[in-house]
Amino acid sequence: ELGFFDGEFISLDEAKVRLEDRGYQFGDGIYEATHVYNGTCFALPRHLARCRRSLRELRIPITYMDEELTAIHQDIIKKSGIKDGAIYYQITRGTAPRTHYFPEHVVPHLSMTIRESKPNTEWQENGIHCTLVEDIRWLRCDIKSLNLLGNVLAKQAAHDKGVQGTIQFRKDQNLITEGSSSNFYIVKDGIIWTHPLNHYILKGVTRSILMEEIIPKLGLTVVEKAFSPEFAMSADEAFVTSTSLEVTPVVNIDGHTIGQGAPGKITQSLLTEYHRLVRQECYA
Ligand code: PMP
Repeated sequence: ELGFFDGEFISLDEAKVRLEDRGYQFGDGIYEATHVYNGTCFALPRHLARCRRSLRELRIPITYMDEELTAIHQDIIKKSGIKDGAIYYQITRGTAPRTHYFPEHVVPHLSMTIRESKPNTEWQENGIHCTLVEDIRWLRCDIKSLNLLGNVLAKQAAHDKGVQGTIQFRKDQNLITEGSSSNFYIVKDGIIWTHPLNHYILKGVTRSILMEEIIPKLGLTVVEKAFSPEFAMSADEAFVTSTSLEVTPVVNIDGHTIGQGAPGKITQSLLTEYHRLVRQECYA
């Protein structure tokens, strides 16, 4: 593992967080998490584009250009010697005496970590069990902000129940939104369903790759329409997507078996195609 802090590559315990960094005191910042395969960061331009959008939505000045961020990604991979890993980076609004409104003359601050990591192939082959919890997050889930307490509590619910994942639903409308750190989909009668892009969910990079590159290529049909937990329980297949999970089947929700209780055909075809894209980009 290796860190990037104040413009230098350092071991993780060397970094000294400033007490009044607004990321620390307000969660006032954004983050991205990318995956490294064979020493190459997959789909980095899509992550950088989402990062820029998150910054813009929070009115944090863009002081790190895509070229610089790309170079730092390449450097941290090289210096760490890690071939298969997970990179996390965050940009906070910066450090200033604590006031809620944006302070003047504050300079955004970047930090990054890399760790060895590989997708969980056991989960991909057998599927995971999930629990449903109420989505209690704020109304700008489209911003990848550092405020993750809603997600943390959701994920802890799964941990407490001894299952691998959490699916969140809005109680007022009885509609599923997304996982605690993933997008959620079901397949029914050959059609894929997933929540539409709006302020209730994050626009996952993996979701975008599925929608733009994989689903059209496989000739599959998708509807971007919210659905209820009851509808999900009656699905033939279910799955989640994220940078670290790639495409991971969901075979059980709160004790209800989904479909045959095993990864579905359409889910498996999406994962196979995702792996093909990873090979193309990172093992060329
Ligand atoms: N939704 C949420 C709430 C997330 O935290 C994540 C993971 N960053 C995702 C969806 C999936 O996004 P991605 O495919 O870009 O990893």
